[in-house]
Amino acid sequence: MKVLADYHTHSRYSKWYHARHSIFQMAERAKELGLSEIAITDHGPKHLFYGISPKQLDKAKKETIDATNKLGIKVYMGVESNLLGQDGQIDLTDEQIKKLDILLMGYHKGTKTNFIKYFDKKNRNTSEQIEKNTQAYLNAIERYPIDIITHLNEYIRVDTKRVAEACAKKGVILEFNSKHMKFTDDDIKILIDSGVNFVVSSDAHNKKRICDVESCLELIKKYNIPLERVKNIDKLLELKQK
Ligand SMILES: [Zn+2]
Ligand SMILES: [Zn+2]
Repeated sequence: MKVLADYHTHSRYSKWYHARHSIFQMAERAKELGLSEIAITDHGPKHLFYGISPKQLDKAKKETIDATNKLGIKVYMGVESNLLGQDGQIDLTDEQIKKLDILLMGYHKGTKTNFIKYFDKKNRNTSEQIEKNTQAYLNAIERYPIDIITHLNEYIRVDTKRVAEACAKKGVILEFNSKHMKFTDDDIKILIDSGVNFVVSSDAHNKKRICDVESCLELIKKYNIPLERVKNIDKLLELKQK
């Protein structure tokens, strides 16, 4: 079993040196590691601290093309967009999405949503709040050509069954993220039953962590997750038309 790609990594375009290395440096390291593909997926523009500036999207895209041509490893331009609205809204326009090869989406602290009261810790896990979170995810899955949902159930919880089933239906991949893994035993059983597919991701913020997915591989073994459902082990992900 060989991991052939890492579809969730950050470059210096995530602002304030939140991530350490340039797109080229990340790609170089991925090539050294023997990967066939890497996606650079900086934080979406509405992240209050680390978001990529929309003005930089074209420049970043050009750097992924240059790195692909110079290094002979496929470097995809992506964004880890932020879920903002209960209607599913994310922090990229349709025009910005068209510039991307790969679209990731997740919820992050440090973004302003219209369905979570940020300081209302007491009500974070009420069934009412979980329902709002779930609606936001389901609507985003309907609205956008999302390839991968990042670290589901980190920071906010959803109805795992409904989100996983919607992902399975729309061909959206769920991620096992070695940095943020909040799935319970029950969640994992639900994911397996839902028929959804997976990737293993490092969420590397520097080149040393690219493809650091050992804990995800252990989880796959522990729960006996069928390898044909993990779309970056021994195979490569087919990306959606943007
Ligand atoms: Zn994230
Ligand atoms: Zn990330």
